[in-house]
Amino acid sequence: MILPIVAYGDPVLRKKAKAITKDYPKFDALLENMKETMYGAFGVGLAAPQIGLPIRLFLVDTSPFSEDDEFTEDEQNALKNFKRTFINAEILEEEGDEWAFNEGCLSIPDVREDVFRQPKIKIQYQDENFETHTEEFDGLIARVIQHEYDHIEGILFTDKLSSLKKRLIKGKLLNISKGKISVDYRMRFPALKKKR
Ligand SMILES: [Zn+2]
Repeated sequence: MILPIVAYGDPVLRKKAKAITKDYPKFDALLENMKETMYGAFGVGLAAPQIGLPIRLFLVDTSPFSEDDEFTEDEQNALKNFKRTFINAEILEEEGDEWAFNEGCLSIPDVREDVFRQPKIKIQYQDENFETHTEEFDGLIARVIQHEYDHIEGILFTDKLSSLKKRLIKGKLLNISKGKISVDYRMRFPALKKKR
């Protein structure tokens, strides 16, 4: 089932999400629905707060980037095969000189801006079977993980922009939160929810 994606302005996007256990109700169905929702919106990642659940769960699938000529063949292959579920993730280390990449977000349609992030991360997480892993990632895979990880910490990519950029997109963000935007996937807008 495709779930509506929560738009910028909804308080659930600002919560520090909570850890979950294996017993989380209807977990398998939730995972399936999140995958369907992510692919339905052509996303490369989706975090649970984006479908209204403040829990530490996100998905990443970087395969859409594998067609991109700006990457080497090795990078393209790595991107093509990277599909992962991250549960209860904690980034343990981030290192290297920050690099810019033009990011977007399903909760913030039509806004794309360069965001600076460190290129290497070490992360501990549980997979779909709740088995714990500690792994290192770099490049674009690390970046998508960092973006999704920020969601479970209540952070959005627009928080990382310069104050000038923030001022320039303020009106756009306000329109998104009011639902004054056209998107080709299901969304839920905070300001429209309170209708009585
Ligand atoms: Zn996002």
